[in-house]
Amino acid sequence: MVYVYSIQHGRERDSGKKREEPYGSVTMSLTEFKARRDFRKTKEPSGAEEGGRAELFVIQKHDARNLHYDFRISVDGVLVSWAVPKGPSTDPREKRLAIRTEDHPLSYAEFEGVIPEGEYGAGTVMVWDRGTYENLNEDERVAEGLENGHIKINLKGEKLKGGYALTETNSEKNWWILVKTRDDAADARSNPTSTRPRSVLTGRTLKEIQEEEGT
Ligand code: MN
Repeated sequence: MVYVYSIQHGRERDSGKKREEPYGSVTMSLTEFKARRDFRKTKEPSGAEEGGRAELFVIQKHDARNLHYDFRISVDGVLVSWAVPKGPSTDPREKRLAIRTEDHPLSYAEFEGVIPEGEYGAGTVMVWDRGTYENLNEDERVAEGLENGHIKINLKGEKLKGGYALTETNSEKNWWILVKTRDDAADARSNPTSTRPRSVLTGRTLKEIQEEEGT
Protein backbone atom coordinates (compact mmCIF):
# COMPACT_ATOMS: atom_id res chain seq x y z
CA MET A 1 0.00 0.00 0.00
CA VAL A 2 2.75 2.39 0.92
CA TYR A 3 4.43 1.63 -2.37
CA VAL A 4 1.31 2.43 -4.38
CA TYR A 5 0.76 5.70 -2.48
CA SER A 6 4.35 6.80 -3.09
CA ILE A 7 4.22 6.06 -6.78
CA GLN A 8 0.93 7.94 -7.18
CA HIS A 9 2.32 10.85 -5.29
CA GLY A 10 5.39 10.96 -7.44
CA ARG A 11 3.16 11.01 -10.48
CA GLU A 12 1.12 13.93 -9.14
CA ARG A 13 4.23 15.97 -8.53
CA ASP A 14 5.48 15.32 -12.02
CA SER A 15 2.24 16.16 -13.80
CA GLY A 16 2.36 19.13 -16.14
CA LYS A 17 5.87 18.20 -17.22
CA LYS A 18 5.34 15.29 -19.55
CA ARG A 19 8.88 14.89 -20.73
CA GLU A 20 10.35 11.45 -20.94
CA GLU A 21 13.80 11.00 -19.51
CA PRO A 22 14.76 7.45 -20.31
CA TYR A 23 18.48 8.20 -20.33
CA GLY A 24 20.62 5.84 -18.33
CA SER A 25 20.64 4.51 -14.83
CA VAL A 26 21.31 7.82 -13.05
CA THR A 27 18.02 9.32 -14.21
CA MET A 28 16.16 6.06 -13.58
CA SER A 29 17.42 5.76 -10.04
CA LEU A 30 16.47 9.37 -9.29
CA THR A 31 12.98 8.73 -10.62
CA GLU A 32 12.67 5.92 -8.12
CA PHE A 33 14.28 8.03 -5.39
CA LYS A 34 11.74 10.80 -5.92
CA ALA A 35 8.77 8.45 -6.24
CA ARG A 36 9.45 7.03 -2.78
CA ARG A 37 9.60 10.34 -0.97
CA ASP A 38 7.16 13.13 -0.14
CA PHE A 39 9.30 16.26 -0.26
CA ARG A 40 6.57 18.26 1.49
CA LYS A 41 7.24 16.10 4.55
CA THR A 42 10.92 15.23 4.43
CA LYS A 43 13.83 17.65 4.43
CA GLU A 44 15.95 15.38 2.27
CA PRO A 45 17.14 17.06 -0.94
CA SER A 46 14.86 16.25 -3.84
CA GLY A 47 17.51 16.85 -6.48
CA ALA A 48 15.22 19.33 -8.18
CA GLU A 49 14.71 23.06 -7.97
CA GLU A 50 11.33 24.67 -8.58
CA GLY A 51 10.16 24.39 -12.13
CA GLY A 52 12.58 21.80 -13.35
CA ARG A 53 15.30 19.32 -12.72
CA ALA A 54 18.43 21.02 -11.39
CA GLU A 55 21.70 20.10 -12.98
CA LEU A 56 25.20 20.88 -11.85
CA PHE A 57 27.56 23.42 -13.32
CA VAL A 58 31.16 24.13 -12.36
CA ILE A 59 33.76 26.56 -13.61
CA GLN A 60 37.34 25.53 -12.98
CA LYS A 61 40.10 28.11 -13.32
CA HIS A 62 42.99 26.26 -14.89
CA ASP A 63 46.51 27.65 -14.93
CA ALA A 64 47.88 25.41 -17.65
CA ARG A 65 50.10 26.42 -20.59
CA ASN A 66 47.55 29.17 -21.08
CA LEU A 67 45.33 30.32 -18.24
CA HIS A 68 41.67 29.57 -19.01
CA TYR A 69 38.36 28.75 -17.37
CA ASP A 70 36.80 25.32 -17.91
CA PHE A 71 33.03 25.75 -18.07
CA ARG A 72 31.27 22.45 -17.39
CA ILE A 73 27.59 21.50 -17.15
CA SER A 74 26.11 18.12 -16.27
CA VAL A 75 24.10 16.59 -19.10
CA ASP A 76 22.88 12.99 -18.99
CA GLY A 77 25.44 11.99 -16.39
CA VAL A 78 28.59 13.63 -17.74
CA LEU A 79 30.15 17.09 -17.55
CA VAL A 80 29.93 18.64 -21.01
CA SER A 81 32.90 21.02 -21.15
CA TRP A 82 34.28 24.12 -22.83
CA ALA A 83 37.60 25.92 -22.29
CA VAL A 84 36.99 29.67 -22.11
CA PRO A 85 40.31 31.56 -22.49
CA LYS A 86 39.03 34.90 -21.16
CA GLY A 87 36.53 33.39 -18.74
CA PRO A 88 32.83 34.23 -18.48
CA SER A 89 31.58 37.82 -18.50
CA THR A 90 28.56 39.37 -16.80
CA ASP A 91 28.27 41.92 -19.64
CA PRO A 92 25.81 40.85 -22.38
CA ARG A 93 27.88 42.72 -24.98
CA GLU A 94 30.94 40.57 -24.31
CA LYS A 95 31.19 37.47 -26.49
CA ARG A 96 33.64 34.98 -25.11
CA LEU A 97 35.22 32.24 -27.19
CA ALA A 98 34.48 28.82 -25.68
CA ILE A 99 36.25 25.81 -27.16
CA ARG A 100 34.32 22.59 -26.60
CA THR A 101 36.55 19.94 -25.06
CA GLU A 102 36.00 16.33 -24.09
CA ASP A 103 33.25 15.37 -21.64
CA HIS A 104 34.46 14.86 -18.09
CA PRO A 105 33.04 12.56 -15.39
CA LEU A 106 30.67 14.18 -12.88
CA SER A 107 33.13 13.62 -10.05
CA TYR A 108 35.59 15.96 -11.79
CA ALA A 109 33.50 18.89 -10.52
CA GLU A 110 35.06 18.34 -7.08
CA PHE A 111 38.62 18.49 -8.33
CA GLU A 112 40.93 21.19 -7.11
CA GLY A 113 44.68 20.67 -7.08
CA VAL A 114 47.75 20.34 -9.21
CA ILE A 115 48.07 18.22 -12.38
CA PRO A 116 51.75 17.17 -12.51
CA GLU A 117 54.26 18.30 -15.14
CA GLY A 118 54.17 16.15 -18.25
CA GLU A 119 50.54 15.10 -17.73
CA TYR A 120 47.66 16.28 -19.91
CA GLY A 121 46.56 19.74 -18.75
CA ALA A 122 49.52 20.09 -16.37
CA GLY A 123 49.02 23.01 -13.99
CA THR A 124 46.84 24.20 -11.13
CA VAL A 125 43.06 23.77 -11.05
CA MET A 126 40.69 25.80 -8.85
CA VAL A 127 36.93 25.45 -8.40
CA TRP A 128 36.21 29.08 -9.28
CA ASP A 129 32.41 28.81 -9.22
CA ARG A 130 29.78 26.15 -9.00
CA GLY A 131 26.08 25.68 -8.49
CA THR A 132 23.07 24.43 -10.35
CA TYR A 133 21.61 25.35 -13.71
CA GLU A 134 18.30 25.01 -15.49
CA ASN A 135 17.45 24.76 -19.15
CA LEU A 136 15.83 28.01 -20.36
CA ASN A 137 14.79 26.51 -23.67
CA GLU A 138 11.30 25.05 -23.36
CA ASP A 139 11.37 23.39 -26.76
CA GLU A 140 14.30 21.06 -26.41
CA ARG A 141 16.44 19.28 -23.90
CA VAL A 142 19.97 20.57 -23.32
CA ALA A 143 21.34 17.41 -24.97
CA GLU A 144 19.34 18.28 -28.10
CA GLY A 145 20.48 21.89 -27.95
CA LEU A 146 24.09 20.71 -27.89
CA GLU A 147 23.44 18.69 -31.05
CA ASN A 148 21.85 21.73 -32.69
CA GLY A 149 24.60 24.10 -31.59
CA HIS A 150 22.68 26.35 -29.22
CA ILE A 151 21.75 26.20 -25.56
CA LYS A 152 20.43 28.75 -23.09
CA ILE A 153 20.69 28.03 -19.40
CA ASN A 154 20.07 29.80 -16.09
CA LEU A 155 22.96 29.62 -13.63
CA LYS A 156 22.63 29.67 -9.87
CA GLY A 157 26.23 29.83 -8.80
CA GLU A 158 27.99 31.66 -6.01
CA LYS A 159 29.50 34.17 -8.45
CA LEU A 160 27.60 33.76 -11.70
CA LYS A 161 23.82 34.04 -11.86
CA GLY A 162 21.16 34.28 -14.51
CA GLY A 163 21.01 33.39 -18.16
CA TYR A 164 23.93 32.40 -20.35
CA ALA A 165 23.80 31.31 -23.98
CA LEU A 166 26.28 29.06 -25.75
CA THR A 167 26.22 29.06 -29.55
CA GLU A 168 28.36 26.99 -31.86
CA THR A 169 30.19 29.09 -34.47
CA ASN A 170 32.61 26.58 -36.02
CA SER A 171 31.82 22.89 -35.67
CA GLU A 172 35.15 21.74 -37.15
CA LYS A 173 37.16 23.70 -34.62
CA ASN A 174 34.62 23.14 -31.80
CA TRP A 175 34.32 26.90 -31.38
CA TRP A 176 31.34 28.22 -29.46
CA ILE A 177 30.52 31.67 -28.10
CA LEU A 178 29.56 32.14 -24.45
CA VAL A 179 27.49 35.24 -23.73
CA LYS A 180 25.46 36.59 -20.81
CA THR A 181 21.80 37.09 -21.66
CA ARG A 182 20.03 40.33 -20.75
CA ASP A 183 18.38 39.87 -17.38
CA ASP A 184 18.55 41.18 -13.81
CA ALA A 185 21.90 39.49 -13.21
CA ALA A 186 23.52 41.15 -16.24
CA ASP A 187 26.03 43.80 -15.19
CA ALA A 188 28.41 45.53 -17.58
CA ARG A 189 30.53 46.91 -14.75
CA SER A 190 31.07 43.85 -12.61
CA ASN A 191 34.06 41.71 -13.49
CA PRO A 192 34.06 38.67 -11.21
CA THR A 193 37.01 36.92 -12.86
CA SER A 194 39.25 39.71 -11.57
CA THR A 195 37.42 40.89 -8.43
CA ARG A 196 36.57 37.43 -7.09
CA PRO A 197 39.64 35.31 -7.82
CA ARG A 198 39.34 32.78 -4.99
CA SER A 199 38.07 29.21 -4.89
CA VAL A 200 34.41 28.77 -3.85
CA LEU A 201 35.43 25.39 -2.45
CA THR A 202 38.36 26.35 -0.21
CA GLY A 203 38.78 30.14 -0.42
CA ARG A 204 42.29 29.69 -1.80
CA THR A 205 43.98 31.58 -4.62
CA LEU A 206 45.64 29.69 -7.48
CA LYS A 207 49.01 30.45 -5.91
CA GLU A 208 47.95 29.02 -2.55
CA ILE A 209 46.63 25.85 -4.19
CA GLN A 210 49.87 25.50 -6.13
CA GLU A 211 51.99 26.02 -3.01
CA GLU A 212 49.98 23.62 -0.89
CA GLU A 213 49.41 20.85 -3.42
CA GLY A 214 52.26 21.18 -5.89
CA THR A 215 55.41 19.13 -5.58
MN1 MN B 1 41.49 23.06 -18.76
